[in-house]
Amino acid sequence: MKRLLIKNVFWFILILAVLAILMSTFNFDTSKTIDISELVSKIKAGEVKSIEVEGQQMTASLNNETQVKIFKEEGEALSELLKNYDVSAEQIAALNIQISEKQNDWAALLLPALLPLLLLGALFYFFFRQAQGQNIKAMSFGESRVRETPKNAKNKITFKDVAGIKEAKEELHEVVEFLMNPKKFIALGAKIPKGVLLMGVPGTGKTLLARAVAGEANVPFFHISGSEFVEMFVGVGASRVRDLFKKAKKQAPCIVFIDEIDAVGRQRGSGLGGSHDEREQTLNQILVEMDGFDPRIGVIVVAATNRPDVLDPALLRPGRFDRRVTLNLPDINEREAILKIHAKNKPLGKGVNLRPVAERTPGFSGADLANLLNEAAILAARRDKHKIETQEIFESIEKVLLGPERKSHILNEHEKCITAYHEAGHALVAHMMPHADPVHKVSIISRGLAAGYTMKLPTEDRYLHSRSEFMADLAVLVAGWLTEKMIFNDVTTGASNDLKHATRLACQMVKEYSMGGELRTFGEREDMVFLGREIHERKDYSEKTAEKIDKEIESLLNKAEKTAEQILTDYREKLDIVASNLLEKETLERKEFASLFKDIKVPTKTKISKK
Ligand code: ADP
Ligand code: MG
Ligand code: ZN
Repeated sequence: MKRLLIKNVFWFILILAVLAILMSTFNFDTSKTIDISELVSKIKAGEVKSIEVEGQQMTASLNNETQVKIFKEEGEALSELLKNYDVSAEQIAALNIQISEKQNDWAALLLPALLPLLLLGALFYFFFRQAQGQNIKAMSFGESRVRETPKNAKNKITFKDVAGIKEAKEELHEVVEFLMNPKKFIALGAKIPKGVLLMGVPGTGKTLLARAVAGEANVPFFHISGSEFVEMFVGVGASRVRDLFKKAKKQAPCIVFIDEIDAVGRQRGSGLGGSHDEREQTLNQILVEMDGFDPRIGVIVVAATNRPDVLDPALLRPGRFDRRVTLNLPDINEREAILKIHAKNKPLGKGVNLRPVAERTPGFSGADLANLLNEAAILAARRDKHKIETQEIFESIEKVLLGPERKSHILNEHEKCITAYHEAGHALVAHMMPHADPVHKVSIISRGLAAGYTMKLPTEDRYLHSRSEFMADLAVLVAGWLTEKMIFNDVTTGASNDLKHATRLACQMVKEYSMGGELRTFGEREDMVFLGREIHERKDYSEKTAEKIDKEIESLLNKAEKTAEQILTDYREKLDIVASNLLEKETLERKEFASLFKDIKVPTKTKISKK
C-alpha cells in the first residue's frame, strides 16, 4: 500500500519535471522584440505610451495598443540609457516608466538547473525508502515475541479451571481485585505489588494460574518466556524487555507473565561464557522497567520458575517480585479435583470413580494428571469405546509413569527367565521389608527402557522420608542384581539402571541428608551457567573427608545388600514361585501377587515413635 503510493508520487514528479523543462525551453511569448535604437526612435516619434522595466527586460506599450519587448544590459538605468541616446528630458518625463522587481526571473532561470537535482533527490528518496523497508525487518529482532491474550478472550481461563493450590489462589485473589478496581486501592493509599513470583516444579500449574488471574480480572495477558529474550544478537534481550513493557503499559491494567524467568534471572556475576553478559543486560533491563513504572498504572508482572534457588537476589528485593507464591504438588484431594476438571469434557463410563485414580497417583503433577486422562481417552478411542472406563485410566497411569509398553520388544526365553527372576527379586524384597512401599504390580513386559518393572506405590502422600524408608528402597534396588547373581551366577546389563539409582540415593543420604554418620552436609550444589542445566558440585570438603564419604556410601550399600541377600535366601522358594508366575502370566497385579504370600507372616511397618 505504502509502496504503491511512493511509486505514484515518483511518477508524478517525473512527469512534472519533463513538462517544466519543455515549458522553459520554448518561449510562448508572442510579442515582438526590438532593440534599443528602435525603441528610441519610437519614443522620439511619440509612439510609446509607457515602459515597464523588469530587470533586463522591458516591455513598452505603444499607442497602437501593441507591446514590444526590449532587452537592456543589467544595472543600467533606463533614463541614463535614453539620455545617452539623446532623448530629451521632457520626453523621458512624459514616458510612464514603471520599474518592477524582477520576480519570475529567478525561478525561470533556476528551474531548469534545479530539476535534475530534484529528480535525483526523488530517486534517492525512492531507493532509500525501499532499503529502509529491509532495515525495518532487521530491527524487528528487538521486538518482543510476546503473545497477547486480549481481555474478553473466548474460552478464557479463570480460577474455576484451577483445582487445588488453595493458598496460591488466595494470595493471587488480591491481585485480581486490584486489577478489577485499582482506584479503590489507590484511594486508600495501598501499595500494590509490582511483581508476583510463582515457584513450583514443572506442571504444578504456574502458567495456568497466571492466565487465570488475567481471566478472572478480565485484563489483557502478555505471555513471554525468559528464554525468548535471549537470542544470537547482543542487546536484543534488553530491547525486547523495553518493547514488552511499552506494549503492556499501553494496555494497562494488565498482566505481564514472564515464564521461566530463571533463564534470564540467574544470579549475576556467577558464570562465564558469552551469553552471560547478554542475560545480565536483559535482567538489568527488567529491573529497570520494574523500578521505572508507577505501580498505579496497573501493570503487574507475574513470573514463574522452578528454580527459585538460582534467582538473582536483586529480583527478590522489595518493590520487585516481593510476593512469592509456592505451588506444591497436589495431595490426594487436590488430585481428585484436578482429575474432575479434566474429566469434564471427556465421557467417562458410569462406574468410573476418580478417587482410586487419585490414590494411585502420588507424586503426579497437575500436568501429569491432565496427560493421564488424555492418554486414557486415546486408549479408549483405539479400542473403539464410546466411554472411558477405569481400565483405560489405570493402564494410562503406568504409561505416564514408565513410558509406553513395548510389546514388539520380545525377549527370548532366556532373557525372559532372567527378567522374571530379576523382577521377582525386587518384588520379594519390597514385600518383605516393612518400610518399603507395597508392591503394586510386577511385570516382565518391557516399558520404556526397562525390560520389566516392579511398581511400588506409597499408601499415602508423604512429605518426610525416614532413613529406614531409604534403606528399604536401597535394598529393593539392589535386589534385582543380587537375584541374578544368586540364581544365574552372572549379572546382566539389566541391573545397571537399578545400581545407578541405588548409588545416587546412597550418595544423597550421606551428603545431603546426613544419614550416614556425620552431622553435616557435603558438596553444596551450584549452577554453572556456561554448562546450561549441568549442576556442578562445590567441593567443600577435603580429600580425607571425601574418602570418608566414599566409605559411608559403601557401607550403606553393603548394608542394603546384606538385608536383601538375607531375604532372598530366606524366601528362596517364594522367589521361584513369583518368577514362574511371572513367566506364565507376564504381569501380576497387587492382589495376585499378595496371594502368593498368604502362608507367611509379613512384618508390618512401625511408625516412627518416641524412644
Ligand atoms: P507449569 O507452568 O507449572 O509447568 P502448567 O500451568 O503449564 O504448569 O500446567 C500444565 C497443565 O497441567 C495445565 O494446562 C493444566 O491442564 C494442568 N494443570 C496443572 N495444574 C493444574 C491445576 N491445579 N488444576 C487444573 N489443571 C492443572
Ligand atoms: Mg509453565
Ligand atoms: Zn531392576
